[in-house]
Amino acid sequence: MLLPKFDYHEPATLEDALRLLSEMGGNARIVAGGTDLLVRMKLKVEKPSHLISLRKIPRINVIIQRENHGVSIGAAVTAGELSTNELIMERFTPIGLAAARLGAPGIRNRATIGGNLVNARPAADLSPACMVLNASLKLKRSKNEREVPVNDFFRGPGETLIEPNEMLVSIFVETPPPWSGGAYIKLGSRKTLEISMVNVAVLLTLQSQNGPIVDAKIALGAVAPTPVRAFAAEEFLIGRQPSAKLFSEAGAIGVGMCEPITDHRGTMEYRCLMIETLTSRALNQAYQDAMTWKPLPV
Ligand SMILES: Cc1cc2nc3c(=O)[nH]c(=O)nc-3n(C[C@H](O)[C@H](O)[C@H](O)COP(=O)(O)OP(=O)(O)OC[C@H]3O[C@@H](n4cnc5c(N)ncnc54)[C@H](O)[C@@H]3O)c2cc1C
Repeated sequence: MLLPKFDYHEPATLEDALRLLSEMGGNARIVAGGTDLLVRMKLKVEKPSHLISLRKIPRINVIIQRENHGVSIGAAVTAGELSTNELIMERFTPIGLAAARLGAPGIRNRATIGGNLVNARPAADLSPACMVLNASLKLKRSKNEREVPVNDFFRGPGETLIEPNEMLVSIFVETPPPWSGGAYIKLGSRKTLEISMVNVAVLLTLQSQNGPIVDAKIALGAVAPTPVRAFAAEEFLIGRQPSAKLFSEAGAIGVGMCEPITDHRGTMEYRCLMIETLTSRALNQAYQDAMTWKPLPV
């Protein structure tokens, strides 16, 4: 399959990229890793006449630690970079683990967090991970910018709040409080290069090493037209003492948020069953992670 003809632009600054995007209106698309867009262009689902590459824009290719208060991840940071970054793995664990499960090494070296979020597939790996960390997305156009909580960003399969002349510039995540731990589990029928049949991201915060749960966030992927938060299960957990039994009950409550479809990857019934099992397993893992929380070396 051949790519249709297009003009390729490689701006060196964010300002130039935004200017091009606004001048070319609906005829242009941003290309980051191209692992989604180029496939869609080959299939003739999309036919933009201009591609604006993010490759040469240093500002959106970096992970910046904001003192101890959070991290700003450039939209063009790849899954490979996220999965090998010590700070991300240690403090923003669901993002690191989800990035490590995205595709295979060749895909991870190109696929970006921005492309994964804007592409908005219900089974995407990084969306639920960003949701449990309450990430905030910086969207920019030539003259103004806005911040959108990732939990409000997704509208349907392939649909988000982003406007055609806007660019996702960065993803800001606040550092979770002490005694927080995270997990991400993805179920596919193969070990690699597999789109999720279902996926679960979890962030748990304890009052102290052996204390009760003071905050819980659970997000589920591939179970509805967009990734969803399992609010009822989160509320059920808060204020209770962690235990395997509690996590298994929360898993059963989490299924209430799902409206999965039956497709070639799995039946609706199987997906619901797996959500219950994987939610409980992810909560157990996040709990183990929270109990071993330690301050980062200065
Ligand atoms: C073989 C294969 C395996 C895959 N496996 C997985 C998997 O396991 N899990 C998974 O979640 N995905 C998977 N994918 C899908 C894809 O790799 C990911 O969604 C990836 O993160 C997309 O990022 P990208 O940088 O390649 O996006 P691109 O293809 O460059 O862009 C995707 C879309 O986002 C837009 N876009 C990109 N960056 C921005 C930005 N900063 N601002 C505004 N719009 C932007 C583009 O215009 C385009 O519409 C797979 C794809 C392939 C081909």
